[in-house]
Amino acid sequence: MHLLNNKKIAIVGGGPGGLTLARLLQISGADVHVYERDLNKDVRVQGATLDLHDDSGLKALRKAGLMEAFQANYRPGADKLRIMDKHAHIVMDEDERENEPESGEYFRPEIDRGPLRKIMLESLQPGTVIWDSQFVTMSSDGEGWQLVFQNGHTAYADIVIASDGANSKIRPFLTPIRPFYSGVTMVEGVVYDSATVAPTLHQLVNGGKIFAMGDEKTLIFSAKGDGSLVFYTGVKTDEHWYRDNGIDFSDKAQVLAWFKDTYAGWDASWLEIFDQGLPKFIVRPQYCMPLDQQWEAQSNLTMLGDAAHLMPPFAGEGVNMAMLDALELSEWLTSETVSDLRSAIAGYEQQMRTRASAIAKMTMEQTEALHSAGAIDHMVSMFRQSDSPNN
Ligand SMILES: Cc1cc2nc3c(=O)[nH]c(=O)nc-3n(C[C@H](O)[C@H](O)[C@H](O)COP(=O)(O)OP(=O)(O)OC[C@H]3O[C@@H](n4cnc5c(N)ncnc54)[C@H](O)[C@@H]3O)c2cc1C
Repeated sequence: MHLLNNKKIAIVGGGPGGLTLARLLQISGADVHVYERDLNKDVRVQGATLDLHDDSGLKALRKAGLMEAFQANYRPGADKLRIMDKHAHIVMDEDERENEPESGEYFRPEIDRGPLRKIMLESLQPGTVIWDSQFVTMSSDGEGWQLVFQNGHTAYADIVIASDGANSKIRPFLTPIRPFYSGVTMVEGVVYDSATVAPTLHQLVNGGKIFAMGDEKTLIFSAKGDGSLVFYTGVKTDEHWYRDNGIDFSDKAQVLAWFKDTYAGWDASWLEIFDQGLPKFIVRPQYCMPLDQQWEAQSNLTMLGDAAHLMPPFAGEGVNMAMLDALELSEWLTSETVSDLRSAIAGYEQQMRTRASAIAKMTMEQTEALHSAGAIDHMVSMFRQSDSPNN
């Protein structure tokens, strides 16, 4: 641990990436605090379920000693996917697959974002996470940084690690490179108590996921452990559609009119997402970091996860990359053979950028394929490959 001896580490952002890193560094005896903007741990965590991959998310959990807690909280069967067409016909059903993976490359267990965060929080020493700490800015202070938060508090750290997600406020201290628009904008929503509110969709999702595709559009559903269904529309639009569309997304009637127009010719069962009182919709243009980004390594500052390599969610890699970043960064920082912090950070950043760039390229290809005329054939052949007995 010699590189981190007597060093105060500030991890900014308590998402899956930041919390994994905090846990891994604490195991090595490092002095770590996580500064998180959420007011407390109980603020409701939104978002769909996340599938963790063997060589990334699960690998980090194993190293963090959290597999037992994960096994107690993941949702067996929630990874099962139905590929459907716009007429709500099932084209392929993973429920019927012959080779059910229980480990290895194609074992991709699902966990809801809330329970994953809880597992990680409970693994940290008390007081590690400083809630209500929205990072605003920082300035050089000797060898380290003086951080300033929205609530007026300040903190000194020798090393700052940005894990503050897609709109990172720390990233500009490392590089001016900005993400580019992927071409696709999603609208996210939730149906609570889907068994009662949207019984047809609830049955179709069957506790797992649906990817419905057609007319170069996607409609994705994912069942959560609390009985809700999360859904995402995916449509190719102009980058600024979110701003210029003239729709009031707090007005259900306006959103329904947009949906009926955009998904004209799709089966009526999809409309069940509107069979609820006051649904909330979030419009999310999808961005990706340039695949060839480079910046000069610093000795007291780095970043991981979405802050470093935001990418669209269509390949389900974001959380896995964030957790693998945390694992690799912890290994570089606690290495007994690397001579200085700048070399450790440079080594990590090179490894992370190379890996994330390859995954982002694959993700952009997937984003394009799922919003193309051949989307269903593409998905089916991808899943047939993973279901092959040779795998
Ligand atoms: C609609 C959607 C669906 C997705 N589906 C999947 C999926 O199925 N599978 C998958 O792998 N990935 C998915 N992703 C991507 C995944 O959510 C991210 O890649 C992953 O959460 C990145 O983890 P992170 O720790 O880097 O950042 P985040 O999870 O974004 O966490 C950042 C943390 O920093 C905090 N924070 C932000 N700003 C500040 C600040 N200024 N000061 C202090 N704290 C701050 C936030 O509150 C948050 O806790 C999806 C993303 C979206 C948008």
